[in-house]
Amino acid sequence: MKFYMPTRLYCEKNCVSNHAKEIAGYGTHALIVTGKSSSRKNHSLDDVISALDTCSTSYTIYEGVEENPSVETVMDATCKGIECGADLVIGIGGGSALDAAKAVALMMKNPKKGWEFLYEQVEAQAYPVIAVPTTCGTGSEVTGVSVLTRHDLRTKISMKHKVFPDLALVDGRYLLSAPRKIIVNTSIDALAHLIESAVNTKADYYSLLNAIGGISLFRNARAYIDDMDENARSLDEDAALMLMEISAIAGIAIAQTGTSIPHALSYMLTYEAGIPHGPAVGRFLAGFLEHADSIRKKEILDAAGFESTKSLGEFINRLAPADADTELVERAVKGLLSNEAKLKTCPYHIDEEKLSLIAGL
Ligand code: NAP
Ligand code: FE
Repeated sequence: MKFYMPTRLYCEKNCVSNHAKEIAGYGTHALIVTGKSSSRKNHSLDDVISALDTCSTSYTIYEGVEENPSVETVMDATCKGIECGADLVIGIGGGSALDAAKAVALMMKNPKKGWEFLYEQVEAQAYPVIAVPTTCGTGSEVTGVSVLTRHDLRTKISMKHKVFPDLALVDGRYLLSAPRKIIVNTSIDALAHLIESAVNTKADYYSLLNAIGGISLFRNARAYIDDMDENARSLDEDAALMLMEISAIAGIAIAQTGTSIPHALSYMLTYEAGIPHGPAVGRFLAGFLEHADSIRKKEILDAAGFESTKSLGEFINRLAPADADTELVERAVKGLLSNEAKLKTCPYHIDEEKLSLIAGL
């Protein structure tokens, strides 16, 4: 048994300003790594800047991290961070900005290394990372994982190093301005993390406490996701914070076990067909759970409030459909069959036939 979660995590209203003074301890000049524009619109960037001003910490902003961030973007932001002498990285945004921030903190601390270093399995330090999430799915604020797009390989691959944020500041208010699609898509990602952690070779009592507990919370939050109109007007601050807490709990669960088959199958769909991460993963979730040990499957379905994997699949397909060509799904299946490490995360026997069933082929 091993349980490791070194991130100091706060989930509350006005989180960033409440903990402004703690930010000061992590560095003297911060590189803020964020997406294209959402952190300006939801005021998370303003809050972080005010907090840095409060503690007289200077900063430089790197804006424009794309969805599914590439190794090239990481290296570009690293150059900016080194140029301005940053010794702290603050990621603000969805999983893309947070994942990029972690990789940048690693590369800035190892300035003589090229991008290949991201994929070298060696011990290495990174500068401290503070994470301010604004979506409710990846849990990147409490994991060491950074998933990066590899254009050379036409897919996404996690860097080999684990860089956990030192501090995660979670405030539901940042989610309130997000459109329904982003909230729904990222909630499905969180549900996938919970289920893939619970149905996993590495699952143990401690990871399951988070995974099953998170699934029960998801059941309470389902009504919010179901009832939401296009502008997510039905979501209030408490509901938004709850969705973000589910995402963080799911992150703590996958920090122990990693993800499994649905995530592995999803990456090619995202790269080749541009299907967002949540729906791409959700596409395989019910099929994956269907073949799990019957006791674990029942425990998960009961906790989530679904009668069967069929009703789980219908729920996902209604909220976050992923329209992928059969040929592309077949390629994803073929690709995964040669990835022994990923197949080993699945606790039940898996072969081409089983994988095709999971993928609905
Ligand atoms: P994302 O790719 O970070 O962002 C998707 C879109 O949402 C962007 O256009 C972004 O706009 C916008 N956005 C973010 N916050 C918003 C808000 N509050 N209001 C309105 N728009 C908002 O989405 P994500 O699903 O959170 O992250 C997906 C990435 O995380 C993938 O690369 C996935 O592989 C990775 N991931 C990582 C882990 C992990 O453990 N590290 C786990 C699962 C997935 P802007 O560009 O303007 O900000
Ligand atoms: Fe995910």
